[in-house]
Amino acid sequence: MIDMIAALGVSVEIAYLDTQFLFPETIDLRDRLSRRYPTLCFVNRGNAMSPAEQERIHGPELWSREPDLCCRIRKVEPMRQLLRNADAWMTGIRRDQSSTRSSVETIVWDSSFEIVKISPLAPWSREQVYQYVRERDVPISPLHDAGYPTFGCTHCTRPVEGARPTDYSRAGRWSGTGKTECGLHTDPLTGRIGRA
Ligand code: SF4
Repeated sequence: MIDMIAALGVSVEIAYLDTQFLFPETIDLRDRLSRRYPTLCFVNRGNAMSPAEQERIHGPELWSREPDLCCRIRKVEPMRQLLRNADAWMTGIRRDQSSTRSSVETIVWDSSFEIVKISPLAPWSREQVYQYVRERDVPISPLHDAGYPTFGCTHCTRPVEGARPTDYSRAGRWSGTGKTECGLHTDPLTGRIGRA
C-alpha cells in the first residue's frame, strides 16, 4: 500500500504506533521505507508513556498478565487519538490472514473509531502480496525470512516453526493466551473485524 500511494504522488501521513517494544528490524524497516519513499511522511503516533512508567502504574510485565490492557494503552488509545481528526484510515488487513478476518470488507464504517475504514488489500492473497513486493522491490522486514509470519511487539511475538515467508499464521502472536488480535481491528461490541 505504501508503494502504491507513493506511486500516486499524493502526500499522506503514514502513521505507525511505536509501542516501544518493537523489533529493531521494524525500526530499521521504517528507516529504509523513508529513504525509498522520500515524499511520504512516516510519523510515530504511539503512546509517549515509557515502559518504566507503565510498570510503575500497572506493575511488571503487563503484557503477560493483562495483554488486552497493555494493547489498549500502547495501541488502541493512541490510535483513537490519531484518528480523532482524520477523515478515513487505510489498513493492510486481508481476508486470508485468519478466520476472524475472513469477511473483511473493503470499505466499512468503523463504529469503534467512528471513521470510514478502507482495506484495499482485503481480497488479496499473501502470494499476491509477495509477487507485488518482488516485482516492485519493495523493502520488507527480514523477520519474514526468519520464521515470523507476522510480528508486533517483541514480548508477544515468537517465530512459527516451519513457516515460510509466503505462509501466514497468527500462531506466533500472544501464543498460549487465546488472544489473536490487539484490538485495533475488532469491534468491541460485536467482536467482528472489518465489517459494517
Ligand atoms: S502486543 Fe504485547 S507488548 Fe505490545 S501492546 Fe500488546 S500486550 Fe503490550
